[in-house]
Amino acid sequence: ILKMDQITKNFHMGEEEQTVLDQINLTVNNGDFVAILGPSGSGKTTLMNIVGCLDIPTSGQYILSNHQVDTLDESKLASIRNKEIGFVFQQFQLLPRLNAWQNVELPLVYRGLPEKIRKERAKEMLQKVGLADKLQNLPNQLSGGQQQRVAIARAMVTEPTILLADEPTGALDQKTGQQIMELFHELHDEGKTIIMITHDKEIATHASRIVHILDGQLSEECV
Ligand code: ATP
Repeated sequence: ILKMDQITKNFHMGEEEQTVLDQINLTVNNGDFVAILGPSGSGKTTLMNIVGCLDIPTSGQYILSNHQVDTLDESKLASIRNKEIGFVFQQFQLLPRLNAWQNVELPLVYRGLPEKIRKERAKEMLQKVGLADKLQNLPNQLSGGQQQRVAIARAMVTEPTILLADEPTGALDQKTGQQIMELFHELHDEGKTIIMITHDKEIATHASRIVHILDGQLSEECV
């Protein structure tokens, strides 16, 4: 489903060039639940941006669902991103003036789906994440864990190929974080492909594969 071959990313800071990802190889198969585990500054966000088609590598080949992504311009990259990737962020990133139902519906508005279908699908997704009774709540009328559930429903409503989560439990207490991991387990059991970026070893153990990132290089833990 995803194959990275010799991916390198350099950033220029004035005269200096910094190699943040150094010839990375990564293959993710359909239905995998992969944690990318690494300390601050190891290149996690840079890798996530490339996986999520928010940025392209300096060199190397990246293939996502039969698209060769590494050479695309921004508009083509955006269309693949919208089709293939559902994002979940540490800080939820819900729109504060829209209720849970409207937040989940929004990606379908951008796709031009008719309102009746949008509403139905968004409601189904919110039921799936356990928030059937919170459709009308604004984000500030929900707990952190509930807000993250809304964000997960929003990421899933477009049926993306990959659910890409950046520190999804980073803003939650331990118990709530565990509950979010249980939800990821359910999605994984249903066949969803999940890539989760984290610095938290305990959280990473919930995945079925753990890939360590350190100084821009990957190494896989065999479990
Ligand atoms: P954290 O967990 O703290 O967010 P991270 O593992 O996500 O860290 P990255 O954000 O990928 O790490 O950053 C890795 C390195 O790349 C850092 O040294 C950072 O300074 C550098 N870097 C990231 N983005 C850029 C950029 N746009 N321009 C220049 N340097 C960058």
